[in-house]
Amino acid sequence: MATGLPAGVTVETPGRSGQAGVPVRQGETFYLETFGCQMNDHDSEKVAGVLLARGYRQVENPEAAKVILYNTCSIREKAAQKVFSRLGELRPVGDAERRWMEERELGLRKADLEIGAPGEEESEQRAGRVKTRRLQSTGKIIGVLGCVAQQEGEGIFERAPWVSLVCGSASYRKLPQLIAELEAGNRRVTGLDTDTDETFETEITRRDNPFRAYLTIIEGCDKACSYCVVPFTRGPERSRASGSILQEVRQLADAGYSEVQLLGQTVNSYADPSVTNMRFSELLTAVAEVPGIRRVRFTTSHPRDFGKDIVEAIDAHPTICDHVHLPVQSGATAVLRAMTRTYSREEYLEKIALMKAAKRPISITTDIIVGFPGETEKDFEETLSLLDEVQYDSVFAFKYSPRPNTPSLKMPDAIPEDEKGRRLAILMDRQREIQRLQNEKLVGETFEVLVDGKSRRENQWSGHTSSNRIMNFTSPEQELLGDYVQVKVTSALPNSLVGEMVGR
Ligand code: SAM
Ligand code: SF4
Repeated sequence: MATGLPAGVTVETPGRSGQAGVPVRQGETFYLETFGCQMNDHDSEKVAGVLLARGYRQVENPEAAKVILYNTCSIREKAAQKVFSRLGELRPVGDAERRWMEERELGLRKADLEIGAPGEEESEQRAGRVKTRRLQSTGKIIGVLGCVAQQEGEGIFERAPWVSLVCGSASYRKLPQLIAELEAGNRRVTGLDTDTDETFETEITRRDNPFRAYLTIIEGCDKACSYCVVPFTRGPERSRASGSILQEVRQLADAGYSEVQLLGQTVNSYADPSVTNMRFSELLTAVAEVPGIRRVRFTTSHPRDFGKDIVEAIDAHPTICDHVHLPVQSGATAVLRAMTRTYSREEYLEKIALMKAAKRPISITTDIIVGFPGETEKDFEETLSLLDEVQYDSVFAFKYSPRPNTPSLKMPDAIPEDEKGRRLAILMDRQREIQRLQNEKLVGETFEVLVDGKSRRENQWSGHTSSNRIMNFTSPEQELLGDYVQVKVTSALPNSLVGEMVGR
């Protein structure tokens, strides 16, 4: 079935708005930029859905928006810095900044926020101060969402006084209410609770990917890895009821989506809060059996909760994709203990063995941190030997980044930055070679590909295999986007396959 949907599809979702009494803002504009992981991307789809449901219109650049929102990531220091540099671009300059602050204090700026009142264009002309992109932020609502918001809290107002909204992911359902409070004249509002047992279900989700629909099934994380901010920024684990998930999957299938990806920081720690009490592997199976669904993906799995039942579900249902992302973080048990990862190298390898024993080949990918405090050269070599042993199909590798509030911040024997860089480069070289050899073995094989891209070059298309490999291929056909086609691999690169379409 052709599933090509226009970008920006809006799909109604079985959720509760909880926003009774919040004013509709017909025609009001918002700009939303997202940093970080797929979970943030999907949260942004839901934030957009919540605002669209209130009559807002999404615009493509901050200059054109009344409300500017950054959905942020703080997993590593660089990611958090990026957000503050973006906020710096919106800083009112010099005198203008002072005047803006004073006017805001006196409530004069409130008028700028009303529909029909002099907008930013007029107030900018009035002040004759349009010099850089920065000034154009005057009179707008600027909000920081996501992990940086949760982590820095009201401290963001100190660092960037032109920000008026700070809201963590556990409070997104309150967003329209918070924006309404600003419009009513409040200077600053925050949504920073994490002690909610609600998941962020919305009436409407604005989906940006026309081929793959994301669904968060579990929010937060209870694992407490010693280097990680997620338990602080996303709060405790909360799972969504299986009935509500399945209802949304059925609606997605009706809307033309054939591929869904179940999301969670530790997706396989899913604990159904409803009486149905489905295990994660049962939920996978139930999603795979929804008519119209041809591919089910899930990420990220935690090794502790990864069991044989998940592999059995993959074996029993070709609809469940043959790809598992199972972050290891280090190949040395001593480092894993210091990271509080709850498994040893040997226990992790037992999970890998479960997958290698599956009836069909399962593509395995992972995350690795190099340069964790106290990581010796020997520990690092154990990580390299783990790469050789597992033969991952792809690795996301990071230099350890010390993060606020995390236990590893105070650990001794920090590794110097240049040494972290050296280890990262060695690891990536080793893995690139593994991938080159792995992919070369696939030359001559034929895979089903969901076509999700068209090159400007004639007859060139791209898509993903069930194992999530990127396939660039040739086909003389005119329209393939959203179709499932058979592609024979003709050559291989470390990060992608090259092929030609041989059938449908
Ligand atoms: N929940 C997933 C898990 O259990 O592996 C990972 C979520 S995290 C958003 C994605 C990856 O970021 C982690 O697997 C880890 O490799 C990396 N990461 C997390 N904290 C980090 C830190 N402080 N420094 C460097 N990398 C980090
Ligand atoms: Fe962070 Fe560990 Fe939770 Fe993953 S499992 S989100 S790395 S605390």
